[in-house]
Amino acid sequence: MSLLSVVVPCYNEEENVPFFYEALLKNQAFFDEKKIDLEILYIDDGSGDRTAAEVKRLREKDERVHLVSFSRNFGKEAAMFAGLENAKGDYVVLMDVDLQDPPSLLPEMLSYMEQGYDSVATRRVSRKGEPPVRSFFARMFYKLMKRISRTEIMDGARDYRLMTRQMVDAILAMKEYNRFTKGIFGWVGFQTKWLEYENVERAKGETKWNFWKLFLYSLDGITAFSTVPLMLASVVGVFFCIVAFLMIVFIIVRKMIFGDPVSGWPSLVCIILMTSGVQFFCTGILGQYLAKTYMEVKRRPIYLVKEQF
Ligand code: UDP
Ligand code: MG
Repeated sequence: MSLLSVVVPCYNEEENVPFFYEALLKNQAFFDEKKIDLEILYIDDGSGDRTAAEVKRLREKDERVHLVSFSRNFGKEAAMFAGLENAKGDYVVLMDVDLQDPPSLLPEMLSYMEQGYDSVATRRVSRKGEPPVRSFFARMFYKLMKRISRTEIMDGARDYRLMTRQMVDAILAMKEYNRFTKGIFGWVGFQTKWLEYENVERAKGETKWNFWKLFLYSLDGITAFSTVPLMLASVVGVFFCIVAFLMIVFIIVRKMIFGDPVSGWPSLVCIILMTSGVQFFCTGILGQYLAKTYMEVKRRPIYLVKEQF
């Protein structure tokens, strides 16, 4: 017998909790056939609704259901980390509770594990049902990441991923506070099989992400997995020095040949505005990394548990 841990982060998902349970257990015949024991870990990420109560109701009829309830909302990254820390399985799979990560893919994923892969990951090949602006910026983000980070981050990758115990332990060894799981998966390596599927719309309730939250999350991703932006100040600095040098030569030569008097303060104002703008921008980037470093050195816990069974 081998144990499969299913980690499900939930934030205000009272409607989806039992729904997900039903959908997952549609695979029960397959699990029985393959002699796979199940452990379902719902991570209640500080929900304000009846999410925890719904999990308790499931627990009453099924011992395989577990709950880790946070003292407040710590975010999906923290919830996934808590799930991985508490999972005992030989295999662990991360899934959204809203059924956007279809449980019907599990048998196929498990069969790839039998072929010797360390991990089976999923990516969406379509983004239908998503606002076009969001899709556009998402694509831009992945393109940018490809250029500025050495860690491989797949376009459209979901957090829906099945892993061996070995890979889970590798991820748990990364204790960083600013967690960006899509990058962490790539960073730890291991042999990964990618499955593709069409986007599925969430079963019930509404998405917890808006454009601004996603934008900030993408900044987290960049600062966590690339230091290229830090080089920007040096690059722009060198560029400005070269331009300044050329202009000095130009002005001296012009003065010697034509004897032009100095003129034009508007151009001077433009130059000052431009260079100080660039300076502030670069200081801002420094600030971003400093802020992340500041949070990191505080060594605060990634999550706090209120209740667990
Ligand atoms: N989630 C969470 N904590 C949060 C936000 C979301 O645990 O602070 C969970 C949520 O319950 C769901 C998963 O993360 O199971 C994905 O969230 P959502 O469906 O809102 O994101 P989307 O699928 O739209 O990217
Ligand atoms: Mg969703």
